[in-house]
Amino acid sequence: MANLRQASLRHANLALVARTVLAAEAPPSRADVAAATSLTRSTVSRLVDELVTGGVLAEVDSAIGGPGQPGQPGRPSRPGRPGRPATPLTASTGRFAALGLQVGVGQLAARLVGLTGEVLAEQLVPLDLAGSRPGPSLRRLRTLTTRVLASTPPGMTVVGAGLALPGIVDHTEGRLLSAPNLGWEDVTPGAALRGALGDLTLCVGNEADLAAHAFAHPAPGRSSEPQDFVYLSGEVGIGGAVVVDGTVMTGRHGWAGEIGHVCVDPEGPTCRCGSTGCLEQYAGRLAMLAAAGLDASTPPAELARRAHAGDDKARTAVRSAARALGIALAGVVNVLDIPTVVLGGHLAQVGALLAPDVEAMLVRRVLSAHWVTSRVVTAPDDPAPGATGAALLALDRVVADPVAFVS
Ligand SMILES: [Zn+2]
Repeated sequence: MANLRQASLRHANLALVARTVLAAEAPPSRADVAAATSLTRSTVSRLVDELVTGGVLAEVDSAIGGPGQPGQPGRPSRPGRPGRPATPLTASTGRFAALGLQVGVGQLAARLVGLTGEVLAEQLVPLDLAGSRPGPSLRRLRTLTTRVLASTPPGMTVVGAGLALPGIVDHTEGRLLSAPNLGWEDVTPGAALRGALGDLTLCVGNEADLAAHAFAHPAPGRSSEPQDFVYLSGEVGIGGAVVVDGTVMTGRHGWAGEIGHVCVDPEGPTCRCGSTGCLEQYAGRLAMLAAAGLDASTPPAELARRAHAGDDKARTAVRSAARALGIALAGVVNVLDIPTVVLGGHLAQVGALLAPDVEAMLVRRVLSAHWVTSRVVTAPDDPAPGATGAALLALDRVVADPVAFVS
């Protein structure tokens, strides 16, 4: 019994030390970790050694600190080795990675992501998958998966795999129930990808949820600001997610956040979901390009360029999208009291044009705007943030339970 307690204490303390190092803004020393966790320095040193040997943590080259570090406050000497400089700790880059996949209406993506959140290898193929058949698309994704996994660096372990899908997902069964913009219904992608995945377990999730997770946590165990926000993922349509305290609010069945299908005008155009006047009929990529008189294949950056240059149709398209976004988001902010909006995908590419009008609309329509001003920010330009988010979720297991991986 005592041994059992000892073992579970070691598990918990290894996870605590790993979390503390990965969450730190600057690489902490062992002494910093001891101070942050209230564990003794010798316990921390032992646990850190185990995590370094196991490939979860790494010691930053002491040369980075430069000469004169040992005497400085906050950089005490390494416990048990008097006189030696404190060695900062960080996530290891060489031992663990996860596979992130994404099916978008405009592309397929496969990525290998490491413990520091960096993309180690990727395959991106632009494709028009609107109204496509799932079989050939998933076979193509299987080929990309095989290629990315084949480029896994020697000595690295792939700990899991995740797939981001643009629709309603049953994550317990790994099933895509409906993706209106793909035209896919009731698809189980894991079966089609099995040949490429080997022993890896595939988790499936909603693309916007996973992109929002990647925005809130750019690396396993690390958080960015803000931690409370509404995320809009602009693709052909618009996906959405609500993040509170860094966690995606998925709702009872995992289907929350479908802001793209919030109605902004019941008399508006018919949406692929079967309803009318949904947000994505005004601010989805295809809707904005069509309103600007541009071909569906035109990059959103070109729409932004034209609007900046004063092109009337482009400006009208942006204004109409901003108005619809403002109406839909005001409803969301009024209900949830989350005043930060993050624009991702094509919405980020035209974000600088959209933000002022959306923010003005939020000031006008949000009841609490007098006390807290809503702000609209843009996500980093990344063609497949859902793939990264799927891989990061798989990597979180290493941080949550390092024992399972370092032993
Ligand atoms: Zn709709």
